[in-house]
Amino acid sequence: MALSGLEIYKLLPGSSKDPAEKAHGNCKECGFPTCLAFAMKLAAKQADLSSCKYVSEDAKAKLSAAAAPPIRLITLAADGREVKVGNETVLFRHEKTFYNPAGVFVRVLDTMPAAEITALAKAVADYKVDYVGMSLRVDGLAVECASGDPTAFALAVATVNAAAALPLILVSEDPKVLEAGAAKSSGSKPLLCAATAANWEAMAPVAKAAGAPLVVRAETLQGLAELTEKLVAAGVEDLVLDPAVRPFGASLAALTQLRRLALKKNFRPLGYPVIAFPYLGTAEPGMEMLLAGQQVAKYAGFVVLSKFEPAEVYPLLVLRANLFTDPQKPIQVEPGIYEINKPTAESPVLVTTNFSITYFAVANEMESSGQPAWLLVADAEGMSVLTAWAAGKFDAEKIAKAVKGTGVAEKINHRKVVIPGHVAVLMGELEEELAGWQIKVGPREAVDLPRFLKTAW
Ligand code: SF4
Repeated sequence: MALSGLEIYKLLPGSSKDPAEKAHGNCKECGFPTCLAFAMKLAAKQADLSSCKYVSEDAKAKLSAAAAPPIRLITLAADGREVKVGNETVLFRHEKTFYNPAGVFVRVLDTMPAAEITALAKAVADYKVDYVGMSLRVDGLAVECASGDPTAFALAVATVNAAAALPLILVSEDPKVLEAGAAKSSGSKPLLCAATAANWEAMAPVAKAAGAPLVVRAETLQGLAELTEKLVAAGVEDLVLDPAVRPFGASLAALTQLRRLALKKNFRPLGYPVIAFPYLGTAEPGMEMLLAGQQVAKYAGFVVLSKFEPAEVYPLLVLRANLFTDPQKPIQVEPGIYEINKPTAESPVLVTTNFSITYFAVANEMESSGQPAWLLVADAEGMSVLTAWAAGKFDAEKIAKAVKGTGVAEKINHRKVVIPGHVAVLMGELEEELAGWQIKVGPREAVDLPRFLKTAW
């Protein structure tokens, strides 16, 4: 359970009963004026315990245990690409934020022809779409042993590695198969999947030798907890849970219980990220992605898809991007002047705010219309037009400042600027702020901008 600032303070030198330790109290060497101030920062996770070199070993052990995240951070890596999952602290995004997006992986079967494996690996590695200023990508590949043959599996892993440097999940319940696959994963840190009640003793040394995290699979939460305790005792600490219940309702219940037990009860044996295989939960066409969406939202750390269909993956990645942005920080673009379709000195100047979705709504409409324009993005602290106006962040003064500050006047041979129709009320005030400029009130919706410019510019 997390300790409060005062509970932490009682373990620091400033409140120690040992005179030698107490002598260091409030020494400021940690960068804070007092031990109490340091304790408060530690409780808020804004300081590192290692900054105080006078904490006793006993206190360190207590503090480290309390400071450990309720859901362990697991990292998979390969040649510059990395997937981090875990370290979550809340059940609901609005309570604070979710930190590490669920890794989305695509299954590769070792029975597929080599050319097909290569093409799939390349397609997944090359897939990248821009969404409101963010790059959406699939995170890696899950190589599954369908052949039962360690040699065929190792060959498939080698083929994948040769085609694309992506984080990998190696899937088989046979330790020999995973050992052969891990041997071909040099340069990457794969996730081995899975240890069960039947094979964990043979699987533990394979994971340790590969330095790889290990999936633990059991059909009950108790079974999972018992297995994680055994594996931790055997020296495998980086674990991922697979509650082997697959359909919609059962999966939602199991994943929610796991998250609740980890966060609300601080139940360490289940304080690990979860892996989900949505294609095992439904045979209905099109339902796999729906289940994947449910599992991304609640509460999978890794989601393995049975196939790679860009049109199906895209909405899943958008959903993930929207869930894993900080609700306290609007997604925003840099304020400034943006060129749309190679504008000239005659091109119109359009004003909007720096909320990403607002910016991209305007930019996309203009780009697809083919009409050139200067898009002037005012700093409205990442709010949309109406919200920013209501909050006093998008007023005549701010717009005038943006016009003057970006030097747009030097790029054009006219003095006209279009403001969004939603803030028509600013027109008079803006005419005063921007003497010599003609203020034109544009449409309320971005979709109407091209037609407005054709008829009213
Ligand atoms: S380093 Fe900071 S926390 Fe440690 S004894 Fe000095 S003031 Fe206290």
